Amino acid sequence: MAHILTLNAGSSSLKFGVFEAGDEPAELVAGLIENIGSPDAHMRLKSEAGAVLEDRDLSSVEGADHGGALKAALAVLKAHVSGLDVVSIGHRVVHGGMEFSEPAKLTADTIAQLEELVPLAPLHQPANLTGIHAAIAAFPGVTQVACFDTAFHRKHPFVQDTFGLPKEYYDKGVRRYGFHGMSYDYIAGALADMSPELGMGRVIVAHLGNGASMCGMKGGVSVSSTMGFSALDGLPMGTRTGQLDPGVMLYFMQQEGLSADEISDLIYKKSGLKGMSGISNDMRTLEASDDPAASEAIDYFCSRIQREIGGLAAAIGGVDALVFTGGIGENSVTIREKVCTGMEWIGITLSNDLNATRGETVISAADSPVQVMVIPTNEELVIARAAAKLA
Ligand code: ADP
Repeated sequence: MAHILTLNAGSSSLKFGVFEAGDEPAELVAGLIENIGSPDAHMRLKSEAGAVLEDRDLSSVEGADHGGALKAALAVLKAHVSGLDVVSIGHRVVHGGMEFSEPAKLTADTIAQLEELVPLAPLHQPANLTGIHAAIAAFPGVTQVACFDTAFHRKHPFVQDTFGLPKEYYDKGVRRYGFHGMSYDYIAGALADMSPELGMGRVIVAHLGNGASMCGMKGGVSVSSTMGFSALDGLPMGTRTGQLDPGVMLYFMQQEGLSADEISDLIYKKSGLKGMSGISNDMRTLEASDDPAASEAIDYFCSRIQREIGGLAAAIGGVDALVFTGGIGENSVTIREKVCTGMEWIGITLSNDLNATRGETVISAADSPVQVMVIPTNEELVIARAAAKLA
């Protein structure tokens, strides 16, 4: 049996999955190694049905770096996937720059291009490349494919891609790229399968996880994204600010004397739900808290989503469906209700009963002009499909 391996390397984590190869790859197992390089390195492996197959600490030797983590992952995969035979590997890569609008086979040339994009995503691209190098060392000769978070958004019209800066910066690549592209790609496909009419329609997708963004698409093609040059723009997230007046950056530098690294730490790691609440980046914790600061953070999160629904609807000329996905979008009855409350003016009327029923796909009232839906995303499947196609 031929298998496809998917890898998603973060700065200190490695997500991995094995799929049975085929026209439509079928997931067999999914794993996560966290705290790579620290004595707390830990691995978990689950079956497709969610059963925990492995849950254990990795010795500091095994978890020392991404190469060691990949070795440890392969050892458990061999134990749990009989006859493991990897014929193609798909990697998640955060930035594909201006060039990549499709998944790409990894060659010396494409890897060099990806290395040139490090300045556009200094926190994430190097980790992705480390994962790629580790996989090439472990599987010489096996087809390796990069799938980009930015690729799905590459068809944006100029006005959705540009900033009001001198043109030379646009030409240099200072543009709104948009991210979470694999999730939006999956949703576009799933929606078209469920309803060809909606697949061709005007759809707003809210990917609400620890990272959160929204996408306005028309006919399955992305027209506009709330994330821009970096994965900081748009909605407030677990620890990231979301949209911030650039004047605040000047204030940080000129009045507070913060360095670039200090500002980066503040806006990537100490802001958003965590910074505003002073409690947690985890939505479940905030929903359970009776601290007013937790409610304020939730209110701000939902109010920004409502604003973006208006903005994205303008970009795509109206709205036929609003889709919730990501950990919060798929699971939080409260957030979906808060987001939809007061949005009747745009045609959104939620059914509180359907919203509260786990597993419902359509959660709007029968007479709601806009279909409100919950569709669980599957970014790994999108990577596996690309790796299967290019193998
Ligand atoms: P990531 O961006 O890291 O992939 P996820 O998509 O897994 O994140 O989403 C994580 C977020 O989803 C967390 O804020 C978590 O609290 C939230 N979440 C998960 N389940 C629920 C739930 N039942 N109710 C509210 N929030 C939830």
